[in-house]
Amino acid sequence: MVETHHLFAPDNYHRLQACIHCGLCLASCPTYTVNGKEADSPRGRLALMKYIDREVEFDAKAAFRHIDLCLGCLACQTACPSGVQYGQLLETSRSYQRRQIKPLSRIQHLFLNWLTSHRSLGFITALLALLQRLALDRLARALRLLPHTLRFQLAGLPSITGKAFSQTHDNVFPALASEDQTQGTVALFTGCVMDHWFGEVHAATVRVLQWNGFNVLVPNGQTCCGALHAHAGLEEEAEDCLVRNGAAFQDIDAQALVVNAAGCGAQLRNSSGLDHNSLSVVDISEWLTDKLPRPPKNKLSKRVTYDAPCHLYHAQGIRDEPCRLLELACEHLLPLPETEMCCGSAGFYSLIHSDMSQDILKRKINHVQVLAPDMLVTGNPGCHLQLQAGLRASSLNIPVYHTIEVLDMAYRLDSAYRHAFGLDN
Ligand code: SF4
Ligand code: SF4
Repeated sequence: MVETHHLFAPDNYHRLQACIHCGLCLASCPTYTVNGKEADSPRGRLALMKYIDREVEFDAKAAFRHIDLCLGCLACQTACPSGVQYGQLLETSRSYQRRQIKPLSRIQHLFLNWLTSHRSLGFITALLALLQRLALDRLARALRLLPHTLRFQLAGLPSITGKAFSQTHDNVFPALASEDQTQGTVALFTGCVMDHWFGEVHAATVRVLQWNGFNVLVPNGQTCCGALHAHAGLEEEAEDCLVRNGAAFQDIDAQALVVNAAGCGAQLRNSSGLDHNSLSVVDISEWLTDKLPRPPKNKLSKRVTYDAPCHLYHAQGIRDEPCRLLELACEHLLPLPETEMCCGSAGFYSLIHSDMSQDILKRKINHVQVLAPDMLVTGNPGCHLQLQAGLRASSLNIPVYHTIEVLDMAYRLDSAYRHAFGLDN
């Protein structure tokens, strides 16, 4: 039966026509770089969206396979001289696909629910902590007891304590600076995976803020930012997350909502749910760049390189700030070639499209291998897991850290900082 599809409302269709087919975005597209197929390039995907919308005799299911293979990294949007808003067009297309063509599979739903519900993520976290304690994760990897994709993902995990940061810490952290260096109050967004698996990043974030004169609040009632839902085309679920977060932050008396996960920051910035109060959403690197009255006194004598998360670099336009902080913290900051190119993580893309994801990652790991740094730095949990897994799979003994962890490490060279926070080293 012939079907017609209307992806875009008539007053939105013109946004597709902003593409003048110049091809200047092609070289920046990771999927096109891997397979060279026009249909897996930004220009090709925009053409497919147009055909799906306008051509009656068109195989929409086949076309959506190419749109599915898009990482949503937005490198094409940065490269485009015509100002094509690729991200919005992609989300509209995916939302239509989920409603009319192909709902998420059961396994995709399962991954989404595991990663975004505090309850199920808490259960998985406790299980992973036990596996790590008994070294069963290593055994499962060594004996190849799990499918390759899961073994690969397990290799990227940090050391997991079993409890989320928000479950094991206070909600209020007072500034630890003299009165003339006190700078006000910020709220911290804790997220899902960050909260459960990257509590150390939250702890470092809080310490650096306190040391530089900020009171830090961790409001109750916050929930997943909804980014994974939005990327999967589940618009309503994503909106629901934003509304719930809007309610959680409604009465908070703070200057900004500080986020240390690039994907969450990009999603929360889109939120109309946070519009009703004056809480601006800021990435931690952006917030601290000009607000460090007490910069580190010492630098780490390490060779460090930085890989930019797409949702910081392309989606939020935060490009120099992480490197400016790293320059304060390290003696040797090495520029990573193609830092703005996606690492292939992209939410749970790395689980669903594992072959493409790992082909994209190989290019990144090759660049890191040539530089041979002591540590690799990034600013998003998905990128962190993906890069660490890729380095371990290539037998490269290079740890991955968040920008704020490296800044905290430099501060920890100072005994006054260690003493203030009761740290041994
Ligand atoms: S999306 Fe932009 S850069 Fe890419 S082909 Fe269209 S106009 Fe050119
Ligand atoms: S969002 Fe990324 S993967 Fe998708 S078309 Fe643009 S550059 Fe390619």
